[in-house]
Amino acid sequence: MKIDIDFDKCCGAGQCVLVAPDVFDQRDEDGIVVLLEENPAAEQYENVRQAAAVCPAAAIRVEE
Ligand code: SF4
Repeated sequence: MKIDIDFDKCCGAGQCVLVAPDVFDQRDEDGIVVLLEENPAAEQYENVRQAAAVCPAAAIRVEE
C-alpha cells in the first residue's frame, strides 16, 4: 500500500489522525496533515482506508 496526500486539498480537519494516528499527524501551526508512514505496515491498512474514506477534503489517495 502506498499513500498519496494532496496537501493543497487538506483543510486540516484532522479526521485522518483520529482514525490512524500511527500514520497521520498534523502540523502544529496550521493543522495540515503530516504523513508519518508513506508505506504503512499491513496492520494499518484498514485504518488508512478508513482515514481516506472519512477525509472531508478527499485529500488522501490510497494505492493498494
Ligand atoms: S482528514 Fe483530510 S483534510 Fe483532515 S487533516 Fe486529514 S488529510 Fe487533511
